[in-house]
Amino acid sequence: MVESILNLFFPKTCTGCSSFLLSNENVICTTCRHNIPLTNHHLNPGNEAFKKFYGRIPIIHASALFYFHKKGIVQQLIHNLKYRGHEEIGAILGDWYVEDLKNIEILKSVDEIIPVPLHRKKHKERGYNQVTTFGKALASGLNLTYNDSLLIRNVYSKTQSKKNLLGRTEGIGTLFDASFTEKDHHKHFLIIDDVITTGATLEACATALLKIPGAQISIVCMAMAHS
Ligand SMILES: [Zn+2]
Repeated sequence: MVESILNLFFPKTCTGCSSFLLSNENVICTTCRHNIPLTNHHLNPGNEAFKKFYGRIPIIHASALFYFHKKGIVQQLIHNLKYRGHEEIGAILGDWYVEDLKNIEILKSVDEIIPVPLHRKKHKERGYNQVTTFGKALASGLNLTYNDSLLIRNVYSKTQSKKNLLGRTEGIGTLFDASFTEKDHHKHFLIIDDVITTGATLEACATALLKIPGAQISIVCMAMAHS
């Protein structure tokens, strides 16, 4: 009742296209859900996300749920998630992807989900890591541990979004460390991030985690830039 009255004065809008949501729609409208470009990476172990890391780092699995196009729905979703506090988008995408990922045999050996960390100063500025809700939804749906204390980002980069306009310079001067003990040995880590572009950030994270004896790496992202 209260919610209906609130909706009358402050109708909820779709985070993809800003049109008003119907009462049976949540966060993303039905039209956007149908128009979002799916990669279907989960159906193909040798997909383009996997190929991106081929010869760079040894990985077990890589996939992204959507394609990311400039000015597309996915860019809008990620922007709202990352810069406008709409953390619920991450949870919706996580629940969505669980349905595909739970059928992948090779992912059944994953032990922990590891989010790409923000530097603690950046985390303080934004107030949250934009991949947390996505990662927690995956962890809950796939029955895995969510571990955001294993991987640490060392260098603070203040102008990351400006850098992106000029071509991403991610990875340069950005170093990650794994803070591990013996209990972290011999585990399969699933690294998660928002968008795969060059893959440099994920490669740097994987390199840090691979210093742990017996570590295995897989990668899952919300979206992948499509050229
Ligand atoms: Zn929409």
